[in-house]
Amino acid sequence: MASMRAMVLERPGTPLIVRERPVPAPEAGEILVEVAACGVCRTDLHVVDGELPDPKLPIVPGHEIVGRVAAIGANVEGLAPGDRVGVPWLGHTCGVCAYCKGGRENLCDAPLFTGYTRDGGYATHAIADAQFCFPLPGATGDAETAPLLCAGLIGWRSYRMTGEGRSLGLYGFGAAAHILAQVAAGQRRRVYAFTRAGDLAAQSLAKSLGAVWAGGSEEEPPELLDAAIIFAPVGALVPLALKAVKKGGRVVCGGIHMSDIPTFPYRDLWEERQIVSVANLTREDAREFLALAPQAGIRTTVTRYPLAQANAALADLRQGRIQGAAVLIP
Ligand SMILES: [Zn+2]
Ligand SMILES: [Zn+2]
Repeated sequence: MASMRAMVLERPGTPLIVRERPVPAPEAGEILVEVAACGVCRTDLHVVDGELPDPKLPIVPGHEIVGRVAAIGANVEGLAPGDRVGVPWLGHTCGVCAYCKGGRENLCDAPLFTGYTRDGGYATHAIADAQFCFPLPGATGDAETAPLLCAGLIGWRSYRMTGEGRSLGLYGFGAAAHILAQVAAGQRRRVYAFTRAGDLAAQSLAKSLGAVWAGGSEEEPPELLDAAIIFAPVGALVPLALKAVKKGGRVVCGGIHMSDIPTFPYRDLWEERQIVSVANLTREDAREFLALAPQAGIRTTVTRYPLAQANAALADLRQGRIQGAAVLIP
């Protein structure tokens, strides 16, 4: 029987381990994907570090998968062997709960998440629900495309939540912000990039991607913002961002996990400022963004790691040593 390789988390807080397994066969409604590239997302760090409840264990992390269909199960329509597809974080939804029926499948009561509650893409092969995969035509590289599948999609959902304002702050200039800055600048918004204090590399990347200003998170931007998105998992940024937005401004928290938010005076929230969070994505978000990204000329900055170096990639992400996005190549 053919075998595959995967980087497996057996217990949160321990390094991933290389495992050889038989290549699984897709069941009805599923496809087998031969992975060409898989992005490394901060959410993977939260899974590995045990900051998210109840992962499937052992689990293969990774939810920014670009690959080619290697086999299809029964009742799969619209996909054929050889097609290039993307597999995102939202791996399955129930289809019958009030959220699914109300067009908010991102909040489904019984979802499966790729690389968290079903095996993901830190592997040579992955099984996916065909209805939650997206064809990826076009000529962009596999590695360059991978970060679109989460940093891009969740970033896009966060961006849409900011409304129509012209001045936008991005706190945490990692994979998602480096994509969103290009989208926002392309729509003639003024982008203000906030990084860790002294992270000149991230600040210079931000400016090269269209930010009109870049500085440390503690700094005040030169104008009050219409909205801000916080991508860094740092609760202390919430009161800082609230102070940076104008009356009626909105602070969008784009991550799945954050350290606790410190207390702050009510006056910083008053005047109809809002704090909202973004959870997961809908397939509609994915279709919309994956169509928009090539038109908008989005170019990702990626650092490639061999699959076997997944632990090193995670460590580099944790330490803030990556500009743009890290991508694993099997
Ligand atoms: Zn549901
Ligand atoms: Zn992600």
